[in-house]
Amino acid sequence: MNNFGYARASDVADAMRRIAADPAAKFIAGGTNLIDLMKENVARPSQLIDITHLPLKKVEETKDGGLRIGALVPNSDLAYHPQVETRYPLLGSAILAGASQQLRNMASTGGNLLQRTRCLYFYDTTTPCNKREPGSGCSAIDGINRMHAILGTSEHCIATHPSDMCVALAALDARVLATGKAGRRSIVFSEFHRLPGDTPQVDSNLQADEIITAIELPPKGFAKNYTYLKIRDRLSYAFALVSVAVGLDIEGDTIKEARLALGGVAHKPWRDRDAEAQLKGAEATRDNFLHAAETVLRDARGFGHNDFKIELARRGILRALSQAARGTPQSQADKRIK
Ligand SMILES: Cc1cc2nc3c(=O)[nH]c(=O)nc-3n(C[C@H](O)[C@H](O)[C@H](O)COP(=O)(O)OP(=O)(O)OC[C@H]3O[C@@H](n4cnc5c(N)ncnc54)[C@H](O)[C@@H]3O)c2cc1C
Ligand code: SF4
Repeated sequence: MNNFGYARASDVADAMRRIAADPAAKFIAGGTNLIDLMKENVARPSQLIDITHLPLKKVEETKDGGLRIGALVPNSDLAYHPQVETRYPLLGSAILAGASQQLRNMASTGGNLLQRTRCLYFYDTTTPCNKREPGSGCSAIDGINRMHAILGTSEHCIATHPSDMCVALAALDARVLATGKAGRRSIVFSEFHRLPGDTPQVDSNLQADEIITAIELPPKGFAKNYTYLKIRDRLSYAFALVSVAVGLDIEGDTIKEARLALGGVAHKPWRDRDAEAQLKGAEATRDNFLHAAETVLRDARGFGHNDFKIELARRGILRALSQAARGTPQSQADKRIK
């Protein structure tokens, strides 16, 4: 057992002051990931800074008609929020595909973004892991890597980001609002998480002295033609092998705008703008969907146990695009797609 201190932040400025004064400290929100990591001796913070009493629990409309979600809004409250149910059902579906009801009640919006990988070697302190202990090696590359990444990997780490919510946020073009010593900033979602490169211990571009205060969604929610498809070993309470978030804006059979992001395949939610550009202006056909899938997976590489993910992702993309095009987010194969 490692000793650690505990302090309750009184406001955002106080939280920032405390984290800046003690770089080995960690914020604690729902605690559903951090406490597990501490129990497994993977995380050893000097101090827990409790942010659960900060006023970051509101969901409110922005001036431009989008939505601002406070960093402490619980995942369940967000999924069932009327604005999310009606305007951003892709986000609600992704949240409800994750964890369990009890965990979603505790888990916060900000904490979900910063949850750490579920790579088993990362949790097993008896094995080498560059993410846990930089320079020690990666046990997964030649080990059991069935759950691991097929895109954006490096020779140092092939872990995946485990969040479902973040895949929808990537597709929806969200922004992360953060505050730190240098002031406030708004981070484009696709630039929030990082690829492993040669520093896999760093998951995101959030600075050590920054706190996430909110997530902002633009007005467009793709509420009519969307799908969050999560493929996993069990129907609930399992992390994604592959997940696909799709939002389409369709007129007749023509796609005016497409959003496509994948989970379970990379160190960050994987959004492919080339595939989206290919779909823009194209007809909603099986061939065009397959073409987009090939584009997303053009550089995919398996590591043995996870080779199957490449074909699974291809089929997942095809199915998710087909469901979204038909406007039946949870249905099976689409007979109307040519
Ligand atoms: C058994 C189990 C199954 C799960 N299954 C899924 C699943 O299928 N899909 C899925 O998406 N998730 C799943 N989860 C993960 C769960 O969604 C996350 O643990 C949760 O979202 C983390 O939120 P939290 O508030 O509890 O974070 P915490 O554990 O409190 O914090 C996590 C990290 O975020 C940091 N942090 C928290 N808030 C802020 C902030 N505002 N600013 C800066 N840093 C902050 C903390 O310092 C810590 O490093 C599962 C978890 C468990 C335990
Ligand atoms: S994949 Fe990443 S997290 Fe897993 S063992 Fe390798 S370095 Fe560690």
